[in-house]
Amino acid sequence: MTDYQMDTKKRPEHSPVGPSSIEAIILCPGRVKLSENLPDHTSFAAAQGTVAHAICEKVLKGDSLKGYKPGDTVAQDGYDIPIDRDMHDAVAVYTEFINDIRGAYSHLSTKEVIEGEISLDHVGLPEIYGTVDHALSIPFDTLYVTDYKHGTGVLVSPENNPQVMTYALGVAGDLLHTYNKVALSIVQPRARTGDKIKTWTTTPLEIEAFLTDTLKPAVKAALSGNAHLSSGEKQCQWCKAVSICPEVAKQSMLTAQEDFKTFAEINPTNPDTFTIDQLAQVYKQLPLFKKWIKAVEGRVFGELATGNKIAGFKIVKGRRSRSWQDTAKAEQFLQDTLQDKAFEKKLLSPAKAEKLLDKQGKKEVKKLILVSDGKPSIVKDSDKRAAVSIAADDFKHLT
Ligand code: SF4
Repeated sequence: MTDYQMDTKKRPEHSPVGPSSIEAIILCPGRVKLSENLPDHTSFAAAQGTVAHAICEKVLKGDSLKGYKPGDTVAQDGYDIPIDRDMHDAVAVYTEFINDIRGAYSHLSTKEVIEGEISLDHVGLPEIYGTVDHALSIPFDTLYVTDYKHGTGVLVSPENNPQVMTYALGVAGDLLHTYNKVALSIVQPRARTGDKIKTWTTTPLEIEAFLTDTLKPAVKAALSGNAHLSSGEKQCQWCKAVSICPEVAKQSMLTAQEDFKTFAEINPTNPDTFTIDQLAQVYKQLPLFKKWIKAVEGRVFGELATGNKIAGFKIVKGRRSRSWQDTAKAEQFLQDTLQDKAFEKKLLSPAKAEKLLDKQGKKEVKKLILVSDGKPSIVKDSDKRAAVSIAADDFKHLT
C-alpha cells in the first residue's frame, strides 16, 4: 500500500480527487489539502445541472421526456429549479445522441452504464471514484464514454480531457487493453458557440499513458501534503479555496502592484497613455484578480453575517422591494377594480413565438424579425469566432 491509498470502506460520499476535479488537481495539486474542511457551496447553475442530469438519466432508463413538463419546478440543493423549454431541448439533444449510439449496436451484446458508479481501485487509485453519465461497451471493439454538460459559458472539449479519460479508466476496469478504440464525447447542448456534441477517439494505449504519466503523479502529489499551488483561470474558476489561497492572493497582489506601477508611470486619467504591452499584461490577469476580489467580498460578508467583527464594516438591509403576498387574491382584486387595466399586454419575443408556431408560421414570422449583432466583447485569441474591427464611434458600447 502506498502512502496515498485510502480505506475504501471509510471513503466520503464525494471524492476530494473525483473525476470532475481531476483536471484542476493536475494543474494545481495543492488545492486538495487547501480545500480540506472548507464547506461546499452549491450554486444555482450547479443545482440546475444536477436536475438536468437526473432527467437525462430517467429518460435513458425509459421515462418519457414529455412527463417532465415545462413550468414545473424541482427542489434541489435549496433552490427551486424550473424545468423549462431550454432544459427540455438540452436533455433531448443528449438522449438522442445516446440513442443513436445504442441504435448502431442494437444487434450486438453490449454493456451499458447510465449514471453508474466508477472507481479506480483496480489501478491502485481507490481515492478516485465518482459517477459516469453514460458508457456503452462493445466488447473487443469500442468503449464509448459520454459526459453531459449543462453549462453554457465554459466550453469543454473531450480531447485529452482528464475527466472523461478517468471515467474511461473506471468503466473499462481490467479490460481496457481489450478495446480497439475509446470514443470520448462531451454533449454540451446549451453551449453558446461551437459544436454541441464533440467526440475524440483515442486508444487504450493513450489512456494508459495518461494514467501513468499524469494521473498517478498528480494524485500522489495532491494527497502527499506538500503539493505546490499553481493558479490559473481553469483550476481556480470553481475552487472553493480561492478566498484563502495564498497563491491567488500573491498573484492578485502582483497584478495590483503592476497596475499601480503602471498608474505611477502614466497619467491614470488617460488610459490612452498605457502602452499596448502594459495593457496586455494587466488585462491578462484581470479574471483572477476579479475572482479574488469576489471571494474576499464573499468571505467578509460571511464573517459579518455570522457575527464576527471586521473593523470599519457592517451589514445593512438592501433596498426594499414589493411583491404580491397572494398573487391569486391580488389578481382578483385588481381585475374587479381596474378591469382590463389590471393587466399589461406584452408581445412575445421572436424565440418564444417560434416555439409556439407551426412550420408555416415560423416561415412567415422570419420575415418580421430584425436580427441585430450582439454587443462586441473581448475574448481570447483561441476563441473560434472571427475577429471583428470596430469603427471608432462604436467604442462607446464597450465602456
Ligand atoms: S485557488 Fe487556484 S491556486 Fe489556489 S488552491 Fe485553488 S486552484 Fe490552486
